[in-house]
Amino acid sequence: MTAIAPAMSRAEGFARPYVVSWNLTYRCNLACEHCYLDAGAAPQVGTENFADRSELGTEECFKVIDEIAAFAPECVTILTGGEPLLRRDILEIVKRASERGLWVVVGTNGVKITENVAKRLAEAGARGLSLSLDALDPDRHDGFRKVRGAWTNTVAGAAILNRTGLPFIVQTTAGSHNLGELEAIADFAYERLAAKVWNLYFLVPTGRGQFVSDMNPAQYDEVLSALHHIQKKYAKRMLVNAKCAPHYIKTVLENGDAGSRIRIYSGGAGGCPAGTHYMGIRPNGDVTPCPYLPVFAGSLRNASLSELWNSSELFTGIRQRTSLGGRCGECEMNGHCGGCRARAFGMTGDLMSEDPLCTHTPGRFAGAPLLVMRGPAFAQTPGGTAIEYGRETATTIAWDDAAAERMKKIPMFVRGMVIRAVEESCRNNGLDRVTIEQLERIRARMPTPKMFS
Ligand code: SF4
Ligand code: SF4
Repeated sequence: MTAIAPAMSRAEGFARPYVVSWNLTYRCNLACEHCYLDAGAAPQVGTENFADRSELGTEECFKVIDEIAAFAPECVTILTGGEPLLRRDILEIVKRASERGLWVVVGTNGVKITENVAKRLAEAGARGLSLSLDALDPDRHDGFRKVRGAWTNTVAGAAILNRTGLPFIVQTTAGSHNLGELEAIADFAYERLAAKVWNLYFLVPTGRGQFVSDMNPAQYDEVLSALHHIQKKYAKRMLVNAKCAPHYIKTVLENGDAGSRIRIYSGGAGGCPAGTHYMGIRPNGDVTPCPYLPVFAGSLRNASLSELWNSSELFTGIRQRTSLGGRCGECEMNGHCGGCRARAFGMTGDLMSEDPLCTHTPGRFAGAPLLVMRGPAFAQTPGGTAIEYGRETATTIAWDDAAAERMKKIPMFVRGMVIRAVEESCRNNGLDRVTIEQLERIRARMPTPKMFS
């Protein structure tokens, strides 16, 4: 029998990021209208926070990887761009990060995926990729991405990944170009691309996104309702997530889904994870609480990650949900939502102002059971309705060696949650030991793809 001890002894709650999104380059083979980084050969944003387009060199990247691995072991590290596959050293960077124990996901537009590239990325240690698909009609997707053939190459990329066994996520950005066909895109992702995860992103008005943001608050609510329907339709088949939409909790409550599971994080900040569990790194090493937020705590060229995460005014300030302005400050859901800080900044210039695209009137859901949290570290909601990330857990019943070994394939920030769920399932079935067979039975009931299995 093997005990699975929590890997970290640090105090829980904002101790480290669970996800780091790292823009490795401004270079790109597409020129998407909404690019939050203003990547590519023809930048359009003239403000100071987009001015430095230098990139860390290979050795500097290695140093950053080592710092992430030391400060946030097994952190999910998204290597993106621009187009990260345009970096000649991308395989070296993936390999170094993987060797240091980080969970590497490569965020690509998919255009450059070939069998050889997929194979070499997998060999270097990438756990998976994310691909972008914005419309069913190739011309509309290409028009949005500004390169003819982008749709065809991305769809071909998905087929290659399926053949090579490298898991992938499909990402769609909602906007006027696709509002009428979101469900059809989800169907396409599941049926044609065999995706296990479909993420719907909501445009944030930053980078070139500031010139094309085209949804009003009522349309935003309609999209969240449509997403809720799609999520239910694909329950247990494909994970469907709302991204950059922390007030999705409002849609869940409006639909009276008392049995829904919501996501919370240890430390007391659900919804927007910027600066509490998430951070971004720009190509030049500047550190931000969220890649969509062009506000920086400092540069990894001359400051340490731990210093910026623990002590910078930006990171400590953004965690203060009680300091939020307007409706977000008064809101009964600010612990579960907090509004999108990047959207607030993009639309008002004030990082802590209310999220202008939210239609909620504070107080409407006061006392809703789904919102009640217990315990010092944001523990369980009544009826076990919360999926709590980040809280580490020691085992309380016996685990076979093989079952304990399998747990190491799960990112650390979800491992505690999985251990709790597995042990609860065993107890409910009268079992006092976790075996590999039991794990496989539980796994078979979940749609989670291999990269997060
Ligand atoms: S008012 Fe702010 S905290 Fe409340 S639901 Fe809307 S965005 Fe979220
Ligand atoms: S500020 Fe929060 S909700 Fe907005 S894009 Fe960043 S992480 Fe997502």
